[in-house]
Amino acid sequence: MTQQAELATPPLTALTEDEIIFRDSVSDFAETRVRPLSRDMDEHAKFPRTLVDELFSLGVMGIEIPETHGGAGGTFFHSVLAVEALSRVDPSVGVLVDVQNTLVINALIRWASNDVKGRYLPKLAASWVGAYALSESGSGSDAFALATKAVERDGGFALTGRKLWITNGNEANLFIVFANVNPEAGYRGITAFLVERDSPGFTVGKKEDKLGIRASSTCELLLEDCLVPRANVLGEVGKGYKVAIETLNEGRIGIGAQMVGVAQGALDHAAKYVRERKQFGRPIGDFQGVQFQIARMATDVQAARLLVYNAARLRDAGRAFLTEAAMCKLFSSEAAERVTSLAVNLFGGYGFTRDYPVEKLYRDQKIGQIYEGTSNMQLQTIAKQILG
Ligand SMILES: Cc1cc2nc3c(=O)[nH]c(=O)nc-3n(C[C@H](O)[C@H](O)[C@H](O)COP(=O)(O)OP(=O)(O)OC[C@H]3O[C@@H](n4cnc5c(N)ncnc54)[C@H](O)[C@@H]3O)c2cc1C
Repeated sequence: MTQQAELATPPLTALTEDEIIFRDSVSDFAETRVRPLSRDMDEHAKFPRTLVDELFSLGVMGIEIPETHGGAGGTFFHSVLAVEALSRVDPSVGVLVDVQNTLVINALIRWASNDVKGRYLPKLAASWVGAYALSESGSGSDAFALATKAVERDGGFALTGRKLWITNGNEANLFIVFANVNPEAGYRGITAFLVERDSPGFTVGKKEDKLGIRASSTCELLLEDCLVPRANVLGEVGKGYKVAIETLNEGRIGIGAQMVGVAQGALDHAAKYVRERKQFGRPIGDFQGVQFQIARMATDVQAARLLVYNAARLRDAGRAFLTEAAMCKLFSSEAAERVTSLAVNLFGGYGFTRDYPVEKLYRDQKIGQIYEGTSNMQLQTIAKQILG
């Protein structure tokens, strides 16, 4: 093969110079600004506003927003790199950035009118956090069974209902809320609305106390006759199901990136520890049994990364990626569980304590198999593509 032909089809993990600079700047930020706060954020289930502000200054809160709207004018792949680099240190920070970019901004860029883009994208690039509110107590996997209703009134829509499990609920200024304008029409009544935090009739409710990603806020939202202007319908009335399906298809690549980051973080800690920890008079990393476990972890991380990068590159190339996105989330979340579990084992008793970071990463990874479609839902998507 000629060198030219090789360049025409670069390896999946080959990054452009611009991507390398971007990833390294986010990694550096994660090490210097996030790592010192991570344990405390987990312990107190708090996300400092100062850290949110720093993420805006870093330029990772508006990655795909065009420069004309104050964003970074980057690609979806840049978002994946940012989420991975942040999650390697703290997956709670990873998911805040993930929801902002791969769900909220992504949905606005794709579905919003020019007027809505002009009103909200500059804010989202500068200081506003976004949230994506689809799930309810009675509708998770069966997302389109949502019960929140929207009734036409006063030139807009009055929304009433309760949303559950909404990431960034505490920090968000803007919420994409899915409600049904015509429940008799089933999913064809579902509509996406942009709701500002200070809208009358809108309240952020209880925050969940969780097993992992504890610093990421997960909140209930209460809507009681919350009036949303017609101009804040995202996409078309009755086409919210399309907004939801299409954004979540992309969003789950971001969750895949979060899981690659968690797994890589656990591998880094374990690889360092086995070189230092001595038993039987030598580092435990000298034992082939331990070496093989590290090798297995590294292979899992790399396989997961290839699936995630492939799905993200396909998306940026405008090619079909539905199956690849489902596969990357399914595999990377299961790989993260295996890798973090082995990392805890390799730390021995210390791995079971809060004195070392692997215990936290083990808890943090579990969410990857649940949100943005459980593993069973990913299997359903993959099987449907194969079997019809
Ligand atoms: C920390 C956290 C953050 C979240 N963030 C958000 C957010 O920002 N926005 C948002 O809208 N939602 C969010 N969610 C909600 C999340 O997407 C849902 O919890 C998830 O989709 C699963 O829904 P459920 O909890 O109702 O479980 P259920 O749908 O009740 O599923 C329970 C179990 O049944 C299985 N199951 C269900 N149906 C089938 C089937 N047909 N075949 C096989 N198995 C099936 C599932 O796989 C699962 O194992 C978040 C959840 C958590 C925990």
